[in-house]
Amino acid sequence: MDMQPSKAANFIEQIIREDLESGRVKSVVTRFPPEPNGYLHIGHGKSICLNFGLAEQFGGQCNLRFDDTNPEKEETEYVESIMHDVQWLGFQWDNLRFASDYFHQFYEWALELIDSGKAYVDSQSADEIRETRGTLTSPGSPSPWRDRPVEENRDLFEKMKRGEFEEGACVLRAKIAMDHPNLNMRDPVLYRILHRGHFRTGDEWCIYPMYDFAHGYEDAIEGITHSICTLEFEDHRPLYEWLLDNVSVPSKPRQFEFARLNLTYTVMSKRLLMTLVREGIVSGWDDPRMPTLSGFRRRGYTPSAIRRFCAEIGVSKANSLVDLEFLHFIIREELNAASPRAMAVLDPLKVVIENYPEGQVEMVEAENNPEDPSAGVRQVPFSREIFIEREDFMENPPKKFFRLSPGREVRLKHAYFITCTEVVRNEAGEITELRCVYDPESGGGQAPDGRRVKGTLHWVSCEHSVEAEVRLYDRLFTLRDMSEMEEGKEYRDYLNPSSLVVLKHSRIEPSLAAAKPLERFQFLRQGYFCADRDSTAERPVFNRTVTLKDSWAKLVRKDQTD
Ligand code: ATP
Ligand code: MG
Repeated sequence: MDMQPSKAANFIEQIIREDLESGRVKSVVTRFPPEPNGYLHIGHGKSICLNFGLAEQFGGQCNLRFDDTNPEKEETEYVESIMHDVQWLGFQWDNLRFASDYFHQFYEWALELIDSGKAYVDSQSADEIRETRGTLTSPGSPSPWRDRPVEENRDLFEKMKRGEFEEGACVLRAKIAMDHPNLNMRDPVLYRILHRGHFRTGDEWCIYPMYDFAHGYEDAIEGITHSICTLEFEDHRPLYEWLLDNVSVPSKPRQFEFARLNLTYTVMSKRLLMTLVREGIVSGWDDPRMPTLSGFRRRGYTPSAIRRFCAEIGVSKANSLVDLEFLHFIIREELNAASPRAMAVLDPLKVVIENYPEGQVEMVEAENNPEDPSAGVRQVPFSREIFIEREDFMENPPKKFFRLSPGREVRLKHAYFITCTEVVRNEAGEITELRCVYDPESGGGQAPDGRRVKGTLHWVSCEHSVEAEVRLYDRLFTLRDMSEMEEGKEYRDYLNPSSLVVLKHSRIEPSLAAAKPLERFQFLRQGYFCADRDSTAERPVFNRTVTLKDSWAKLVRKDQTD
């Protein structure tokens, strides 16, 4: 067990260290408690890294617990995706638990509260309960049913359980104080009637506990020592403690709150992400533009980069907005070290090398990763007709354009120097082809006379390359901080129309056609890409994970020089 303070221990680590040293806690037990009502996003990723990470660091345990107390929105599909995502991130739970397994125990504890006069059945409507709750500045008013005798409460609650009432006819409420300064303590609702089947317990129950009632009890049953949640639950902590203090729980967990993760140009609300999926604005939960873990996976982000991102942003009590570029920076760093290089021409323009023998094919040697010599080399076919990137040619180039233009000589990566001699157009005046000559002495990209060229272009052989679909992604929304939408506007008004650009006729070097789904590459000069999960040898599809351009490093450098 590591008891030494690390360089930058976060405040929860410090609390745990103190708890272990003082003996308040023998061994750390944490949990990650998702509600299975959607797919996990990177905010959940932060919570996973924190909870599983702390258990790992202190030699304790971490449970994956499905907080499935609301039958209305929960489904097995979400349970499965969540388990997959947690494992993909690199974590393994000590115990897999479902809150619904505790429904009988919850019911017993509800009876215990009733018997000790600490809970009552309220027959007011939901509206009446809301209206009598008071405000931050005025107290609430007691329900006319607040002083029901214990026997009557017990009888009514048992009838609720047996299904003798309609939904909304009554609820079970804690009896705390209607003038409590904390609104959460004004006789909160503990149980409600819902005549709905549950994806795990079926029709067994028609009363379901509220989140606040259930959560602390779930923690107590599992012997959780540090129940870590996000800041919006800070005001719920007194209720969490009240509920634990007033029934015979087997252990007394404690709750600690940290700030949620928010990222620029995206949203972290499950409800809104669900809307994007349902309305077809994205292709699904794993659309590579989504901030979901499944979207990140499909986009080509690596689990280790996500873990590192979560570690670097740290854990604090202050809400903040993390720059999406910072995530990209970390992804890029990792991919740079590990990705094999390949050549792909996204928007092809044909080049005919007139002095190269017709029908001749030669294999040129290309390094697989300049960052890692052990990655070796591969052979890439070169021939008389090749494709280059359309944007690598300009007929009338401005001063600082060093790529191909009429009369200009450039290097073809791993191959020869070529010089453009003629521009061929169609009837519409569009450039359809370039004619070039090559220097046969410049093999391997070096001229024997030592002359230099300023531009080096990637290319593929026309005949040998394979057509592929390439999908380029950009931020989903145009607003940096989506919590600052203007009044009267909604998320739809901020969708980025070019968040997805699909190129259907890109050309990739032949070796890439064998890429397996999710395999990652750096396409020279174009960025990091991974084969999409739908990619096949007949129809390769690549997603751009992130561009090469490192605007984050520039931002940081700028900060330092400002
Ligand atoms: P909701 O409860 O509205 O469905 P949620 O995002 O809170 O949405 P949960 O399934 O309850 O979803 O979340 C599981 C855990 O992940 C909780 O402990 C929650 O605090 C944490 N979590 C959720 N969103 C974030 C976030 N943006 N940053 C950090 N932790 C988060
Ligand atoms: Mg929640």
